[in-house]
Amino acid sequence: MATYIFGHTNPDSDSIVGAISLAYLKNQIGEECIATRQGEISPETEFILEKFGMTAPELKTSYAGEKVYLVDFSDLAQAPHDIKEATILGIVDHHKLGDITTDTPLECWIRPIGCSNTVIKEMYDYHKVAIPKDIAGMMMCAILSDTVIFKSPTCTKADTKAVKELAEICGIEDYKALAMEMFIAKSAVEGASARNLNTRDYKAFDMNGTRVGVGQLEMVDISVLESRIPELFADMQLMKEEDGLHTIIILLTDIMKEGSQLLCLSDDASKVESAFGIKLQENQAWLDGVLSRKKQVIPFLQPQF
Ligand code: MG
Ligand code: MG
Ligand code: MG
Repeated sequence: MATYIFGHTNPDSDSIVGAISLAYLKNQIGEECIATRQGEISPETEFILEKFGMTAPELKTSYAGEKVYLVDFSDLAQAPHDIKEATILGIVDHHKLGDITTDTPLECWIRPIGCSNTVIKEMYDYHKVAIPKDIAGMMMCAILSDTVIFKSPTCTKADTKAVKELAEICGIEDYKALAMEMFIAKSAVEGASARNLNTRDYKAFDMNGTRVGVGQLEMVDISVLESRIPELFADMQLMKEEDGLHTIIILLTDIMKEGSQLLCLSDDASKVESAFGIKLQENQAWLDGVLSRKKQVIPFLQPQF
């Protein structure tokens, strides 16, 4: 029986590529594994798959009775609804440890570095398995995405080293130019609905019994979204009601200006204000230097609840 490997809900490139790259490694070392995904592919991931001639993993949202590996998350709120009925064989991640627990011993590769695919690169090295060119290229892109081309404070030496080695394997010298192309593809917002934008990279968290949602749009230039902010807020209000959220935050992250415009609707906005030492104006604030949700947003928000 095969084992499934998948990333978090609203999968980003790390989640999709991580499922593919880890499944390939596992198959090479004699564990039959299938890469899957929990949701739709983003424009950025589409760009990566196309660039390296790969197809998306199959969509699968139910895992009761199956064996699974989790990539890029360990939070129940980002897991399939029936994860408690699955056997978790392992977790490969680079986030805070979430609230998923297991009944049996598991393999864990969790490191405080920039990308799950950097961890997977280290797993390939550990097992002495060669990475195929196309998979190496995709892993490189996933790392460049998660680390915002090395600008994110989450980026470590392990990540830059992995990118350089993967660039060599896939034969792409100017990987920063490719990354910029990728971020331009990611910044495509024309014709996208407010819900699509709000959920493109959206994560829900259980903060001490309180449900908090934080979405992020990483753009080359966030000013193209200015006229759509009222629409984003209207949809945030709907998401807040539908999902029983205490607080919903959408971060419009400008990777060139290196900061984020925070949009927030909350039952108690003072929690958000004290988390970041800001005063919201019309439910918004500019957070200078903030690029990373996992390192610069969640750790400040969590203690407020
Ligand atoms: Mg991710
Ligand atoms: Mg990641
Ligand atoms: Mg990200």
